[in-house]
Amino acid sequence: MLQDRDRIFTNLYGFHSPDLQAAKMRGAWDGTKFLLEQGRDWIVNEMKASGLRGRGGAGFPTGLKWSFMPKQSDGRPHYLVVNADESEPGTCKDREIMRNDPHLLVEGCLLASFAMGAHAAYIYIRGEYVAERYALQRAVDEAYEAKLIGKDNIHGYPFDLYVHHGAGAYICGEETALIESMEGKKGMPRLKPPFPANMGLYGCPTTVNNVESIAVAGTILRRGAAWFSGIGRPNNVGTKLFCVSGHVNKPCNVEEAMGLTFRELIDRHCGGIRGGWDNLLGVIPGGSSVPIVPAEQIADAYMDFDTLRNLKSGLGTAAVIVMDKSTDIVRAIARLAYFYKHESCGQCTPCREGTGWMWRVLTRMAEGRAQKREIDMLLEVSTQIEGHTICALGDAAAWPVQGLIRHFRHEIEKRIDDYAANPHSESVMIAAE
Ligand code: SF4
Repeated sequence: MLQDRDRIFTNLYGFHSPDLQAAKMRGAWDGTKFLLEQGRDWIVNEMKASGLRGRGGAGFPTGLKWSFMPKQSDGRPHYLVVNADESEPGTCKDREIMRNDPHLLVEGCLLASFAMGAHAAYIYIRGEYVAERYALQRAVDEAYEAKLIGKDNIHGYPFDLYVHHGAGAYICGEETALIESMEGKKGMPRLKPPFPANMGLYGCPTTVNNVESIAVAGTILRRGAAWFSGIGRPNNVGTKLFCVSGHVNKPCNVEEAMGLTFRELIDRHCGGIRGGWDNLLGVIPGGSSVPIVPAEQIADAYMDFDTLRNLKSGLGTAAVIVMDKSTDIVRAIARLAYFYKHESCGQCTPCREGTGWMWRVLTRMAEGRAQKREIDMLLEVSTQIEGHTICALGDAAAWPVQGLIRHFRHEIEKRIDDYAANPHSESVMIAAE
């Protein structure tokens, strides 16, 4: 269990003020100049040694990502872009950071930008996050006023930070779509390569990081890589914000050590499963794009990248969506399929056509109006989408469907049987509503 003294986000629930003075009392901006004086390479190496893996979903090592930026500028400026587009269904962690502890993010932006030779950083914030944008802008203004950032700041490293408000499209959370959107174009993902570290924002070397990954940087550097890497399990270290929603007694956001078990997470912080552990049906452990894991597999599983990958799912954003046995699981996944259909940017045929096709078939299956051979057809189509598109939205749409068929095929078959036996029965009509 994570000790209070090891928490990074000590104002996650907004019990205290988010302003600069209060943030400083909690430890933000403490010794930042000293950290910068250790040099670029030291910061990158500390981040590598800390074992921090990106908190935006993919789990790519953050220090390594920073090291991909060119060491010397070829004349083009370098940029840091912070992805605050948090739109993955179930995910609500970054907004708490921006609302209640924004100075950790602002300080992290300075440190990360310095480490990558960037003199300007942009925070791209989701369109629906209006209160968060105000809170963040207030923190940025305070930092400018106190000369913590700006052209002639007390740290001696000219640095500007801008908050950019998106318009609310899910696809703009994909890093290259986000860059396109910031450039004033339609938020459509770019083909890679070239990768943003070579050609990103305005054609310049750019690194895109998640809010949480940047916000933890200051504390990691202050307390040392060894402290951070000493929490959790090998290759899955540090603390992590979990957003638990769904059928638990007390849904919550909580910072915990990586690698605690699902049971510990739920019993310790969420008051248990609604109706008891026997009532658990399944869990989507990392936001809507990762496959569901059935109750018997998830109950005592470690909540970390590697364990959940071995369960053919993923930690993703650690948005834990809990579903008890009252859930209509086929309909639930059909609803997610609708989401991806709606958010597809339409560039790639498999995604544009396939997401809508999967949604329509799943909608029929939720009612039982399908044939059993269509289950395998649906699986086949999902594999034709997965890995055949420009960006990961295609995978994100395919994986929940694959998870459903892998673990709940019997449920789909039962509905088809029920419908075939009695197409006008009340239960079938209810399922169809
Ligand atoms: Fe657009 Fe979908 Fe292709 Fe991504 S996978 S680029 S969202 S069409």
